[in-house]
Amino acid sequence: MLSELKATLLAGSAEEYLSRLYERIERGKLNAFTTLARETALREAKSFDQNPGKGLLAGVPIAIKECISTKGIESNCSSRILQGYIPPYDAHVIERLRAEGAIIMGKTNMDEFAMGTSTETSAFGPTRNPWDIDCVPGGSSGGSAACVAGGEAPCSLGSDTGGSVRCPASFCGIVGLKPTYGLVSRYGLIAYANSLEQIGPLTRTVKDTALLLEVIAGHDWRDSTSAEKSSYLPDLDRGIYGMKIGIPKEYFGEGVNEKVEKSVWDAISVLEGLGASWQEVSLPHTQYALAAYYVIAMSEASSNLARFDGLRYGLRQAGEDRDWHTTFSEIRSKGFGPEVKRRILLGTYALSAGYYGRYYLKALKVRTLIKEDFLQAFKQVDLLASPTMPIPAFRIGERINDPLSLYKADIFTVPINLAGVPAISLPCGFAGQLPIGLQLIGPHFGEAAVLQAAQAFEAATPYHERTPEEVV
Ligand code: GLN
Repeated sequence: MLSELKATLLAGSAEEYLSRLYERIERGKLNAFTTLARETALREAKSFDQNPGKGLLAGVPIAIKECISTKGIESNCSSRILQGYIPPYDAHVIERLRAEGAIIMGKTNMDEFAMGTSTETSAFGPTRNPWDIDCVPGGSSGGSAACVAGGEAPCSLGSDTGGSVRCPASFCGIVGLKPTYGLVSRYGLIAYANSLEQIGPLTRTVKDTALLLEVIAGHDWRDSTSAEKSSYLPDLDRGIYGMKIGIPKEYFGEGVNEKVEKSVWDAISVLEGLGASWQEVSLPHTQYALAAYYVIAMSEASSNLARFDGLRYGLRQAGEDRDWHTTFSEIRSKGFGPEVKRRILLGTYALSAGYYGRYYLKALKVRTLIKEDFLQAFKQVDLLASPTMPIPAFRIGERINDPLSLYKADIFTVPINLAGVPAISLPCGFAGQLPIGLQLIGPHFGEAAVLQAAQAFEAATPYHERTPEEVV
């Protein structure tokens, strides 16, 4: 736990601890990191050893997803088009981490521009799952999850547009939280689909997630969608006696792996044993969520990614000056990978005159219905419980040529982003050696209850204690 780590660092040496992490990263096979900030991080660790600060995360190293801007440290979104881009400023979350004394140890691999479910669309090769290195770690924050699960970092940040924190947390057997839309400032997050995404913590325990959320959440004037936070740590151990848990019937059954389904039902029994009650609820528009999500996400992406023109940052074209159109298309053909191109094309199509009403506008209407599903459900229950992913981690290469099968795996995570509500994934079992994730979903700004339930579950179960150390 991070609080214990802080005590160890105070008694020992942060510099030594960090050096050991870097050695482990170099020895390992995970390819979880794309950029290491070794020099600055070791310098900061040394200065902590000489003069430890009082911050909530003083001396604690943290790994950051490539799409979160870090001043002086490359932030390339695992894309060729941004390779070599060093932001001149920190994202809001990075400012908050630094203010609490955390040490940015490096940047983690991801699906290119966060478009994916497996970290295989990265321009820098796939990240491997520490539980089975032939399997994907999930995505798009695969690097951020694999490094924590594989003991290369004590904690990390990812971003979640349609499941990108929760999916890799589930596949790698750790905790990952997607906060309520607006709870964490997106200032400095390189946008994929801004109406859906949030930055969230990935850690080994629920308490650590609560601690990181405490640090990164809250209003920031540079993100007008950001809101005030409440406090998450003081009531974390309150328990769940009397809590009502809804089981969305659309999130079970066909397409859900048997072991996943059984583990999640076992988890519901554990919650019941801790004093919660459960009842079935319905989220009737679930079947339209994937279509609505992918239309909205791709439309926003096609607009957001238009700024990568090779003129201002990232990839440049050497040679004689050419007109803007030629440079724009040459740079983009070279700089973007196939999945990003597919999404820009589909998104542009969905937004184009004549199709806008048929696709984009329609998707927005479906989004309202999905949000309404959640609002109705939360009139009856305090939280919802479901599998995070319908399947455990799959093998590298198994699905990458079948985009639809990858999109389909997001079925239980994307509705949460469409509705803007918070959800956590935490370990609740294993299929063979591969972890399974339980998803707990709360109403808007209901993080405190989500974390309390997760904490109660974690305290009553052994899953978070198992680590994949042996296989790394
Ligand atoms: N897998 C989803 C997608 O490809 C979610 C990605 C994300 O949350 N960034 O869009």
